[in-house]
Amino acid sequence: MNSPSNSPRRAHDGVDNLALVAAYHADNPGLSPGAISAARHFLKWARARKVPVRDLDASTVGKFLRHRCRCSRYSPNQLRSPMYATYTRRFLRYLEETGVVAIPNDTARLGQHLETFAQKLDAAGYSKVSCTTLLSHATHFAEWVFQQRVPVTAIGDGTIDRFARHECRCGEMTKHGDRVLTSHYKNRKRGARALVRHLIDEGLIPPEAPDGASAKDQRLTGFEEWLRRERGVTSETVRRYLNEADRWLDRLGAIPKDFSAASIRSIVVDQGEERSRSSVRMTVTVLRAYLRFTIIQGECAPSLLHSVPPAVRRKLSTLPRTISEEVVQALDQLLHVDR
Ligand SMILES: [Zn+2]
Ligand SMILES: [Zn+2]
Repeated sequence: MNSPSNSPRRAHDGVDNLALVAAYHADNPGLSPGAISAARHFLKWARARKVPVRDLDASTVGKFLRHRCRCSRYSPNQLRSPMYATYTRRFLRYLEETGVVAIPNDTARLGQHLETFAQKLDAAGYSKVSCTTLLSHATHFAEWVFQQRVPVTAIGDGTIDRFARHECRCGEMTKHGDRVLTSHYKNRKRGARALVRHLIDEGLIPPEAPDGASAKDQRLTGFEEWLRRERGVTSETVRRYLNEADRWLDRLGAIPKDFSAASIRSIVVDQGEERSRSSVRMTVTVLRAYLRFTIIQGECAPSLLHSVPPAVRRKLSTLPRTISEEVVQALDQLLHVDR
């Protein structure tokens, strides 16, 4: 593995690149030559750029993968390969785990709480599919937060939103390519939010993050109080209701008097195929509850409650997209009459 291009002499930051790669290989005997080569190339590039090894992070990996490679013994084509990116991230992970890379003390390490989070979801009676989806996005969130070195005190709505929108280059767990689809964006948000709520409940992260509670949260705060006070529901139910409401609150509209029958209907009908029947029923239940809450505040018209279609309307979502609004309404009426 030795070569003139990575002689054992120490760099200005006191790290011996050759020894580092040798240790990496010794700790991971199964590594492929490609993985070793990527690690050496990364360190060589960092040294040329005078980036100390302890300062390497996800953004330096990004720069490395984009650099116009003229490094001897390496080719620019290698850098384009997704496998090369994975190799480099895996090496960075090793440097992080072994403490070679310095991680600020206040960086949120949410990964350690995922197990209790999973147990909580399970105990809360979520379906297996919901559990898996929430947990997978929560795991991704924990990883992203760590890679971005987000301080634990800074986690809030802004962080969740940035996470939901990020073009994923988180590495080995990247499955969805660069573009963030709308449904994917929402699922990411749900997973991250569920984890954050859990951590706040457990007192593991502060409830009032500087990122700030948004206006949306204030709307949910009122709803939450109302649920507890008027409906006397359990904390777990409150949490599930808030998670559900959070999925579509933006689509409902910013001001209750602007809520429309069309948007209310679309929230129930236009749900992804992956949503189970019981999930759609949940949407209907929570949407009705939220509208009742808003009506009681005198903020929206009581008649809007009738715009919430029954959960069976899910079947309509499989109709062609070109179907006219008139036909939808006619079917809607039929379904109402049938009940
Ligand atoms: Zn290079
Ligand atoms: Zn990612």
